[in-house]
Amino acid sequence: MKYSENILGTIGNTPLVKINKLAEEIPALVLAKYETFNPGNSVKDRMAVKMIEEAEADGRLKPGGTIIEGTSGNTGMGLALGAIVKGYKMVCVISDKQSKEKMDILRAVGSEVVVCPNDVEPDDPRSYYSTSKRLAEETPNSWYVNQYDNPSNAKAHYESTGPEIWEQTEGKITHFVVGVGTGGTISGVGKYLKEKNPDIKIWGIDTYGSVFKKYHETGEFDENEIYPYITEGIGEDILPANVDFDIIDGFTKVTDKDAAVYTRKLAEIEGMFLGNSAGAAMKGLLQLKKEFTKDDVVVVLFHDHGSRYVAKIYNDDWMREQGFIE
Ligand code: PMP
Repeated sequence: MKYSENILGTIGNTPLVKINKLAEEIPALVLAKYETFNPGNSVKDRMAVKMIEEAEADGRLKPGGTIIEGTSGNTGMGLALGAIVKGYKMVCVISDKQSKEKMDILRAVGSEVVVCPNDVEPDDPRSYYSTSKRLAEETPNSWYVNQYDNPSNAKAHYESTGPEIWEQTEGKITHFVVGVGTGGTISGVGKYLKEKNPDIKIWGIDTYGSVFKKYHETGEFDENEIYPYITEGIGEDILPANVDFDIIDGFTKVTDKDAAVYTRKLAEIEGMFLGNSAGAAMKGLLQLKKEFTKDDVVVVLFHDHGSRYVAKIYNDDWMREQGFIE
């Protein structure tokens, strides 16, 4: 008989799927690393379980403990699955910008959800960064995950996502394109691929309102780059330790409108029902089309599933309110 001992055994080994019509103007073969096949419907299951296992191994997380994390939802989902299987309590601290579905889903898998205002500075005591740190200090036998600076995050992608992409493309990959939030995905996959073949180009997708692109190009942390934006999952107003700027060849920024519109196009044109950052990655890839030639093999990673965006991106009223559709 072939079965997993528990749900965590189904994480990883996701498919690569060719993008057809939507990638017609790109001369290369374009393949999507389709991470919604993970049990929590996102790539984040990989790093969530890795962070738990490494914290158990060195005693940061002890039996009966409480896991606390500031998370936009996907990491929380992965951590919640790990917490259920391994017997921990889970608290997710989330900003009020995140979709209601994400919060409901976290509660459905047994997590407590603490909602914080989005429009405050990171060091404001009300921000979700500050609140998660404070809760971790106040809660006995708790462990603050801190996915931004936790090295197990990028390591999970170095050990699983990177090798999978290399093997699935039989070493023929020439470009990797991916949205950047904590930086775990791009840094872990990018490091693995560049060790295999230093000629592989690594492109990050950033959003307007985030510091990454400017910092990569100038080395300057420019506060003028920071303003509220709608795209979920990518971009930051801080520099997480998990972003390894040295392995990244370049960033391109995608507007909120383009990210939303291209998320819908992926569903309508390719049958790929995905989250907001997938639309940003797809549009970013099209913006980069001059980088690719006909013999190239481009892999774009799609982080999460469309179900979490039904009341937003896939809702016409919401799209009209934002001015994203007529
Ligand atoms: N897309 C979505 C939907 C996400 O939840 C995240 C994680 N914040 C990302 C992209 C970015 O991934 P990473 O944190 O590994 O850079």
